[in-house]
Amino acid sequence: MSGPHKPRPPAPPDAVLPLTITSTTPTEEWCTACKAYTRLTGELLALTPDGVSTLGPWTWCDICTDTNDPDDRRPAHG
Ligand SMILES: [Zn+2]
Repeated sequence: MSGPHKPRPPAPPDAVLPLTITSTTPTEEWCTACKAYTRLTGELLALTPDGVSTLGPWTWCDICTDTNDPDDRRPAHG
């Protein structure tokens, strides 16, 4: 006898869901502001253990949408 044998409790589940955000292949579209095919559209997808769910469409223009900090690129006047 080596004392009471306590079973180990199961490990707690991870607090963070194994959720992956991805997108469909973007499609080039006409940007009315730039007058060029610079706009990309696609659909946001959430990959979960249950399956794939669509979050919604997204659009991004190479010219209009600036991913960089606009305040950092544009010189401040005044
Ligand atoms: Zn544009």
